[in-house]
Amino acid sequence: MHLEQSKIPVIGEKPMNIDPYRSLKVETIRKDFPIFEAHDNPPLIYLDSAASSLTPLCVIDAMDKYYLNYRSNIHRGIYQISEEATAQYEEARKKVARFINSRRSSQIIFTRNTTESINLVAYSWGDANIREGDEILVTVMEHHSNLVPWQLLAQRTGAKLRFIEVTDDGVLQLEDLDGLLTERTKLVAITHVSNVLGTINPVQSITTAAHQVNAKVIIDAAQSVPHFPIDVQQIDCDFLAFSGHKMCGPTGVGILYGKRDLLEQMPPFLGGGSMIRSVERERSTYAELPAKFEAGTPGIAEAIGLGAAVDYLTDIGLDAIQAHEQEILEYAYQILSEIDGITLYGPKPRQRAGALTFNLSGIHPHDLAGVLDGEGVAVRAGHHCAQPLMQRYGVIATARASFYLYNKLEEVDRLYDGLLKAQKLFTRRRR
Ligand code: PMP
Repeated sequence: MHLEQSKIPVIGEKPMNIDPYRSLKVETIRKDFPIFEAHDNPPLIYLDSAASSLTPLCVIDAMDKYYLNYRSNIHRGIYQISEEATAQYEEARKKVARFINSRRSSQIIFTRNTTESINLVAYSWGDANIREGDEILVTVMEHHSNLVPWQLLAQRTGAKLRFIEVTDDGVLQLEDLDGLLTERTKLVAITHVSNVLGTINPVQSITTAAHQVNAKVIIDAAQSVPHFPIDVQQIDCDFLAFSGHKMCGPTGVGILYGKRDLLEQMPPFLGGGSMIRSVERERSTYAELPAKFEAGTPGIAEAIGLGAAVDYLTDIGLDAIQAHEQEILEYAYQILSEIDGITLYGPKPRQRAGALTFNLSGIHPHDLAGVLDGEGVAVRAGHHCAQPLMQRYGVIATARASFYLYNKLEEVDRLYDGLLKAQKLFTRRRR
């Protein structure tokens, strides 16, 4: 199995569907996000959607409606408002299943976030299947939440972590994959899109290669599901994890998709109410999927809000969102690369989604973010929970601008102006 980088199709391994006639009506979209009205002087230029996206009114309304009209617990009450809450919660699960083309909605487990979804797999599937001497293959570009759970699993079991390296250009060194995937490899844990570099990894080809050595594959899709269409059956991954709060949904709800046979074989992660069939003094039997993995009262309003976010994104169209973001990324890449002393990390725009990460020579990214904040531009600065990647590039931190459906090209101009202002300020100070 050889994967040549040049043969890797861009964006989720489907041809990009950039149709200029479907370009987004951004001004109309921005009216859906009340936070822009709350910050109109100076206007909020929000370039941190990779950390958490903004929330449209329809999502807030859906959650309000739950609290105002039918707030109650689910799966328990034999009365009307509880039945309504249960129906809405389960409807949200169906919406998420359709959104990523899961065969059944019972393969969608609601968690708190991507981190919890990955930990669920690490503790439940991992403890039951990983033994001393086994290998877990990850990449150097993982977010800590798709690395630390595997380190902990390796420490519990005596398994070994192996790494796919990242090139200077910010793509995976896939020519090493043949040597890294062996009969010892039991799991490949890989991010679909790097939250730092924006790199889109060819997860479908990697999954095929992993399956050839009988390894399972978990995909961290926190930065892909919000930005372009995902089809879990096409990718054929065993698990896929993502967060509601990065896709216009509320905080506090995440998703784990899993193949049904695996989820059925796996022991529960958390024990308690809702996840049992029957309980005796010394032992219990467990509920069917998905309840087996949803112990206790879940984030009901949050799941319902996520369902509304899925409707919202589907109505606008993921293809159109993707095309819009590509336009902004390409523009940002072009004008930012003209700035003296800037280092842009990661591949060219067509191989990336969402985020643009950079450093300006002689200015700490935190100072940069501070100056930009003064201009009303919100960017992220730091290690982005990807310290091994920072070490790979020999930096402590970077600044990151990330884009979503509500961003405008003019906002990239404000970012550019802010960077020049920071440069002037800090060069003057040094003189
Ligand atoms: N993986 C990636 C690629 C991410 O960008 C993030 C969030 N920054 C996470 C995982 C963790 O997401 P959460 O904090 O919602 O668990």
